[in-house]
Amino acid sequence: MSDVRRTKLLIIGSGPAGYTAAVYGARAMLEPVLVEGLQPGGQLTITTDVENWPGETAIMGPELMAKLRAQAEHVGAHIISDIVAEVDFSRRPFRAVLDGGEVIEAETVIVATGASARWLGLDSETRLRGKGVSACATCDGFFFRGKQVAVVGGGNTAVEEALFLTNFASKVTLIHRRDELRADKTNQQRLFANPKVEMVWNATVSEVTGTDGVSGLVLTDTVTGEARPLAVDGLFVAIGHEPATGLFAGKLAMDEEGYLLVAPGTPVTSVPGVFAAGDVTDKLYRQAVTAAGMGCMAALEAERFLAHQAHAPQQQAA
Ligand code: FAD
Ligand code: NAP
Repeated sequence: MSDVRRTKLLIIGSGPAGYTAAVYGARAMLEPVLVEGLQPGGQLTITTDVENWPGETAIMGPELMAKLRAQAEHVGAHIISDIVAEVDFSRRPFRAVLDGGEVIEAETVIVATGASARWLGLDSETRLRGKGVSACATCDGFFFRGKQVAVVGGGNTAVEEALFLTNFASKVTLIHRRDELRADKTNQQRLFANPKVEMVWNATVSEVTGTDGVSGLVLTDTVTGEARPLAVDGLFVAIGHEPATGLFAGKLAMDEEGYLLVAPGTPVTSVPGVFAAGDVTDKLYRQAVTAAGMGCMAALEAERFLAHQAHAPQQQAA
């Protein structure tokens, strides 16, 4: 028979959103239980320098996440090294079954399972990730001051990343596999008006070249099949993100891309008592500090929800 653990607050995920929710939840005496998942510490554990976390001029991603984890534990959060394999939000207390078989019953839940960038799937791209290949211009653009970079993708993200990169790079080449962008017309106008931007239409990236850093790309023309080199110092992949929400399909309302829907400006999901924070519900900002802010909001809402339940008049049995 499996063990059953009971908690006022279950947090699913150990990125900036999850750990911050744990700090606030613990300090509100909710004795939170946090299940850290397959990537303890979340996305920042796969990056090097983080230069936009308040209070830290520069800190390595894994070190920052170790500090957040230590803070969450220090204030009393209980961290479990496992994965949530199944949830039942159709009754209260909510139930979560972990991969290892443990069952958690929770009065409130914060979902902070994050999202991950879609990659092109090239070996050379994987090898040079963090060494010139990135999926976050806001995070890494600063490292390409005065250099030449390429962005791949044709949606709003690719266009906005390309425009953002013109603040640092000497030249930005946007590579798109078709002859028409998917991005909004306003974004397109801004892009085409920027003298630092050059378009490469009908092309895919078939290889990223370089040993310790990016020295160039091999592009393949999608119409003629011809290959040609492009010299760049960095590649930004902007072909979309995937929120980690498979677990919640049919249980929490999502948009067509799988991001959890929340009431505007709040972490309140379609199920009362279940809250969402961080990249799992945010396709716009996708930053550590915004995820952390949402984690704080979610914990405050969980506390408010429980207080409201405690003061609500008892329902009469029929
Ligand atoms: P994540 O960090 O994605 O964490 C999600 C967590 O959920 C993980 O711990 C995972 O294990 C857990 N999880 C998923 N499924 C389950 C499950 N079933 N059960 C239990 N747990 C589960 N942002 C910045 O502000 N500055 C930067 O410099 C910066 N650099 C970046 C560099 C890279 C390479 C990348 C990929 C991202 C970068 N970002 C940066 C973005 C930032 O990392 C994210 O915005 C932030 O981590 C989102 O936090 P989160 O808590 O929402 O989710
Ligand atoms: P997106 O709209 O899905 O666009 C992804 C782009 O990447 C598409 O142009 C697609 O090409 C291309 N692509 C996909 N797979 C590829 C591959 N393997 N190789 C090469 N190219 C590939 O994703 P997004 O730009 O991240 O935007 C996601 C959502 O957020 C959208 O709804 C977007 O409008 C929204 N968003 C809005 C704003 C804003 O309003 N300011 C900003 C950012 C994002 P095809 O076009 O050929 O399919």
